[in-house]
Amino acid sequence: MGPTYRLWAGGERIFADFVVGADGVRSVVRRFFLGPLPKRRSLPAICRFYEKRPGDPIMIRVTPFPGYVWAFGRPDCLVVGVGAMEHGHSLGPELDRFMAEFFPGRKPLGPATGALLPRMYGAGAYRERRTGSGWALVGDAAGFCDTLTGEGILYAAWSADLLAEAYLAGNPAAYDRAWRRAFGAHLALGARMARVFSSHRNIDRFFTAITACPSFRKVLMDFVWNLPSYPRLALQLIATAPRTLMEWRRFVKAGGRIDPSALGAFEAFADRLTLHWD
Ligand SMILES: Cc1cc2nc3c(=O)[nH]c(=O)nc-3n(C[C@H](O)[C@H](O)[C@H](O)COP(=O)(O)OP(=O)(O)OC[C@H]3O[C@@H](n4cnc5c(N)ncnc54)[C@H](O)[C@@H]3O)c2cc1C
Repeated sequence: MGPTYRLWAGGERIFADFVVGADGVRSVVRRFFLGPLPKRRSLPAICRFYEKRPGDPIMIRVTPFPGYVWAFGRPDCLVVGVGAMEHGHSLGPELDRFMAEFFPGRKPLGPATGALLPRMYGAGAYRERRTGSGWALVGDAAGFCDTLTGEGILYAAWSADLLAEAYLAGNPAAYDRAWRRAFGAHLALGARMARVFSSHRNIDRFFTAITACPSFRKVLMDFVWNLPSYPRLALQLIATAPRTLMEWRRFVKAGGRIDPSALGAFEAFADRLTLHWD
């Protein structure tokens, strides 16, 4: 028989023979079993909610440091956030500047809150075990997030699914093999690529090309929906490069300004998004 853990939760004492840390990037469970997540394995962000007004646009603005500010409307509020691809930058002033320029006088619904995104930075992050005698980590607690896209919800659900399978099969240790095979290499490669491509200029060009070049957008949309491997994504990008280049040149020649009507398609796309999990 394995160990029994004694936990305090909501003022109650619980005894458990298996503990799953699904408690986010600042995971207490992770800290207990593996120590704190090293700083280099996370990326900083802040978020603030504001009153929403009809017709609020979806916006992205690249910051002077590697990162960007985003704004999008939820049914009940406008969400504005700043994310950086490295630690050590002041995100708050960047958010204030963005609001003053694009949404002056907009009433905040609360204070800005800080948030971290885990990233699978370095070989140690890939090799580190996420399960041991009587414990396992899933989602952000396990550091599963795609650095290139910021996507973590998929990996939270996927890792929980893989752990449940291993646990129910009576072999929780198999979980470590399962997540590495399913998406571990993908996340590790994404974190490495993000380091190479995350300069201010590249991020700016990336978002502009998504909006201005339909061929590039099509490949990226396929990536979001179907999650091909990064090598396959690279092949698709190379195959469409001549068309993307042509579209880019046409865009630059026409003045390099994005026609606001082109953004409507993205808002319609966001409205159509639903999450399925089989
Ligand atoms: C600004 C920002 C934007 C993002 N945008 C996207 C996006 O567009 N798409 C996407 O896929 N991902 C996005 N992510 C990443 C995504 O939010 C996370 O990867 C995902 O939520 C991880 O899910 P999780 O269940 O592992 O952790 P969490 O969602 O963090 O859930 C952990 C839960 O554990 C609870 N908890 C923590 N400690 C304790 C404790 N001691 N006792 C009891 N409960 C506790 C918390 O309250 C929380 O409810 C974003 C992240 C950030 C920071």
